[in-house]
Amino acid sequence: MAEIQLRNVGKRWGSFVGVENFDLTIADKEFLVLLGPSGCGKTTTMRMIAGLEDVTEGEILIDGTTVNDLEPKDRDVAMVFQSYALYPNMNVYENIRFPLKVRGIDPATHDAKVRRASAMVELDEFLHRKPAELSGGQRQRVALARAIVREPNVFLMDEPLSNLDAKLRVSTRAQIKNLSHELAVTTIYVTHDQIEAMTLADRVVVMKGGVVQQVGSPTEIYDRPANAFVASFIGSPAMNLMKGTVSAGTFIAEHVEITGLNAPDGPLTLGFRAEDASLAGEAQGQINAPIYTLELLGDATMVSVRVGEALVSVKADKTFRAAIGDTVSIRIPSEICHLFNAEDGARLG
Ligand code: ATP
Repeated sequence: MAEIQLRNVGKRWGSFVGVENFDLTIADKEFLVLLGPSGCGKTTTMRMIAGLEDVTEGEILIDGTTVNDLEPKDRDVAMVFQSYALYPNMNVYENIRFPLKVRGIDPATHDAKVRRASAMVELDEFLHRKPAELSGGQRQRVALARAIVREPNVFLMDEPLSNLDAKLRVSTRAQIKNLSHELAVTTIYVTHDQIEAMTLADRVVVMKGGVVQQVGSPTEIYDRPANAFVASFIGSPAMNLMKGTVSAGTFIAEHVEITGLNAPDGPLTLGFRAEDASLAGEAQGQINAPIYTLELLGDATMVSVRVGEALVSVKADKTFRAAIGDTVSIRIPSEICHLFNAEDGARLG
């Protein structure tokens, strides 16, 4: 059992604020993903939970006990880093066993624990090999097994897949998801990859500049982004965003006119997802503009046009064929639109 509470946690180095007012309770067995661009404070947050970084404001509690002053080794958390940090002179078996030795766990139990952990990550056949004789994905799995073998209350994972190639990333991601389900351990996972976040998380925390932007399930964050930053960070492609002006319920920007909006008059940022819009017959839609680029995705064709400075994409049928420069018309019903404050990007309504 491990519930983690972050109470207004902050981290400063001199006048520089790395993390500000992080306030969240992470439920026992929850898989929480910290997501955001480079430098947004994800790793710092995780390191504070691990005890590798001092907390300069607020409080961290694990199962109701304040751990601010506890050494990392006394927090019962296991960390998996993007660099595997394996001991090169030890074989896989010894690497996985190492935390048990360090923690003085009864040697009679080591063999069974190492074999169970290595089986979970499908490394049973490689126990005698040295790290240099393994692929990147296998090394990452040794690092995972080394965390599993400790049977910790909390897993902390910092971009554990970032050194793997695209294909291995997908299969190892699936393995992590399956393991977390099987082990039922509270997990905090750091990534800048929104697909990783969406596929793994029970809840995602989106961060920017040390500040939490939104906390929610992947669906909540995708369907109702709290601001334009979250909207632009989640989804592939990112949500289309256009700056324009609303007058009597009609949004107007270059090449665009969308009626029927429930929004106050004035400047506004309007967003919609590529898959929610569609192509319309000639001049029947709300955007009429020449095709800027076409991408064949296999199951669909992504059609993009330029609207002012923004690139706006719509997902068309895979059979759609046209040439760059041909004019298309994009249907954007008002009900698929997300509206954001033009100044601070906050969601409206
Ligand atoms: P990345 O995805 O690049 O790892 P991140 O979101 O994990 O980024 P952090 O490593 O948490 O970001 O860093 C947050 C901010 O704090 C960054 O601007 C970073 O430069 C700064 N920072 C980190 N460690 C220190 C330090 N020891 N002293 C001063 N500033 C630091």
